Amino acid sequence: MPHRTESESRKLLGRLREALAQDSAGQTRLDRITALTADSMETEVCSIYLFRDPETLELCATEGLNKEAVHQTRMRLGEGLVGRVAKTARPVNSANAPQERGFRFMPETGEEIYSSFLGVPIQRLGERLGVLVVQSKEMRSYSDDEVYALEVVAMVLAEMTELGAFTGEGAALSARHQQPVMFRGVVGQEGTADGHVYLHEPRVVVTNPIADDPQRESERLTAAVDRLRLSVDDLLGRAQTADKDSRQVLETYRMFANSRSWMKRMQEDIARGLSAEAAVEKEQSSARARLGAAPDPYLRERLHDLDDLSNRLLRILTGQGGQTGAEMPERPILVARNIGPGELLEYGRSLRGVVLEQGSVGSHAAIVARALAIPLVIHAERITTEALNGDRILVDGDQGIAHLRPEDSVAKAFQDKIAMQASAQERYASIRNEPATAKCGTNIALMMNAGLMADLPSLESSGAEGVGLFRTELQFLIRSNVPRRGELAALYARVIDAAKGRQVVFRTLDIGSDKVLPYMKPQDDEPNPALGWRAIRVGLDKPGVMRMQLQALIRACNGRPLHVMFPFVAQFDEFRQARQHALNELEREKKLGRALPREVKIGAMLETPSLAFAPRQFFEMADFISIGGNDLKQFFYAADRENERVRRRYDTLNVSFLSLIEHIVGRCAETGTPVSFCGEDAGRPIEAMCFAAMGLRTLSMRPASVGPVKHLLRRVNLNEARTVIDAARVSGAQSVRPAVIEWLRGQS
Ligand code: PEP
Ligand code: MG
Repeated sequence: MPHRTESESRKLLGRLREALAQDSAGQTRLDRITALTADSMETEVCSIYLFRDPETLELCATEGLNKEAVHQTRMRLGEGLVGRVAKTARPVNSANAPQERGFRFMPETGEEIYSSFLGVPIQRLGERLGVLVVQSKEMRSYSDDEVYALEVVAMVLAEMTELGAFTGEGAALSARHQQPVMFRGVVGQEGTADGHVYLHEPRVVVTNPIADDPQRESERLTAAVDRLRLSVDDLLGRAQTADKDSRQVLETYRMFANSRSWMKRMQEDIARGLSAEAAVEKEQSSARARLGAAPDPYLRERLHDLDDLSNRLLRILTGQGGQTGAEMPERPILVARNIGPGELLEYGRSLRGVVLEQGSVGSHAAIVARALAIPLVIHAERITTEALNGDRILVDGDQGIAHLRPEDSVAKAFQDKIAMQASAQERYASIRNEPATAKCGTNIALMMNAGLMADLPSLESSGAEGVGLFRTELQFLIRSNVPRRGELAALYARVIDAAKGRQVVFRTLDIGSDKVLPYMKPQDDEPNPALGWRAIRVGLDKPGVMRMQLQALIRACNGRPLHVMFPFVAQFDEFRQARQHALNELEREKKLGRALPREVKIGAMLETPSLAFAPRQFFEMADFISIGGNDLKQFFYAADRENERVRRRYDTLNVSFLSLIEHIVGRCAETGTPVSFCGEDAGRPIEAMCFAAMGLRTLSMRPASVGPVKHLLRRVNLNEARTVIDAARVSGAQSVRPAVIEWLRGQS
């Protein structure tokens, strides 16, 4: 790169900085920038177009075009050359603009006299803010250096926009991150919350885009990249036991961190007058624009890697980041790309809601959010880019929507919704101590699912009769090493204490598949982990942990009744063997002179269709059966419960699934084996009512569902519901849902 161009560019940035430093209104600043840029680039025209709304660009400042056109000339995204730059996020460089395809003549600007056109996007981290254009009468194509120089100015503009430099009186535009935005994501956990953003990893704000001393900036960059490399090597060193995917990501990080071309481009940016942080952001922005448009999902993944790495580098350079620990706002709503269950637990109940860019309904973070009973929206794309700490945010977990910086009308409607929910909650509270007895006189036992100590207070408030499923793996998942027997025994004892005599059904460890323990050696050779070595399969092949857990449970009971069940049993023998382990441990504890539970019930979870067809002896041996509908449904329909594309495709109230439930209820009735349902569907009132109509008498659900399910059950006659279901089944309907909903409409 010629030295002259670098210093020219630096000079321009220096002048820009002076102009920006002056205390003046936003519009004046923009006007100065256009004048300076045109002068420095020796063009007759320099104009700034900014987005008014996501589809419309507005001419906000110009040197050379008709000043009357400022704030008058607008164009749609994609329209004309300016619209094309905005749409493609790529420069357009033309010696003869009027001849270009798509050129749009705007008479009000007086631009017909200009031949050449160079437009570059003004963007920040993939957010398109506008377009910066220079034009001249002379028919010339702009050199690469000139394109580059204009991009650097655009970068500074983007940063200054972020800092609100162009707002205020005579505002050229409202500051970024001030407009309302709605994010349509996916429901992770129902509920609503009105609060303020708390970013799990705050965005780095670059306050010094322009620097005087390129030498110093270059050294800062080099030192920061060295630290980055060391930290990636360190991560890799510690990740020897991590799963293949995590290692691959880290390898990619290392590749990027050592990339010479990445470093070279950033050094060039610095040589042109940008600060080290601005140089990192500039490359991050252009990589986003380049890769974001790539159709190849592999490349897009790499974009995420590069993004993460750039963020790490920015944090090193600015000293900002997680550690800066912004104050928790009032009614905090956590906003993050993703979050692990342990991290979410640390925030605990102080949070009012969670909004994630990634995540999945079955993820452990989602389970924790459920345990904490806080609304969760997942797949809210780009929310971490838009949200700032302290922004007001409304979380509508029922719809999977988040409103960031809502308009007053939206906030008002939302408050009405919250008020309605509060009155529904009052209704539920009024029946908290009533039984779930249907109009036909049938009693349904409503239990709750739990997995953390934090869940237990809900036993009282929800009105659940006990804990129908205590997922023990969460204790293992949130730690970095295997918990000791004594610790587990103490924890289980606290759970039993908190239940105050009500039943608690413990499920032994369900790990493998999506539930990978941080200290467990991953199975690299499992192409289909959900169908792989998990749950009871691990427990039986390596019984050490299962036996330790059984001992802890027996000790925790200390004479009180023990209810324990094994997950993911696919055939009789697995249950027989697991049960034998439990009996052996009871024997062993007896020999050690410990108090044995006064009653022991050993059950199985029915989560695979095969178990519904097990020999009669299985049903005789099992003290109880709990239908794990989440897994049962995924295996019945061959539809991954974690895959948003297929998860909702098959209705729980599909006649085939209800027939399977009917079959299981019938098998259990033959042997008098108690049966319950503990998958998520038990907490959905209509589904719960249909299960009850099919003969299930115990349902276990998340605590917040107990009220709504009980409320519906008490309003209906289950015999009539069954008649409606049966009529729909013989009619050839795929799902009984429409008929059931129609019938419910007619109920008082
Ligand atoms: C289920 O599969 O329905 C269940 C309750 O277990 P988990 O969701 O923990 O797999
Ligand atoms: Mg399961």
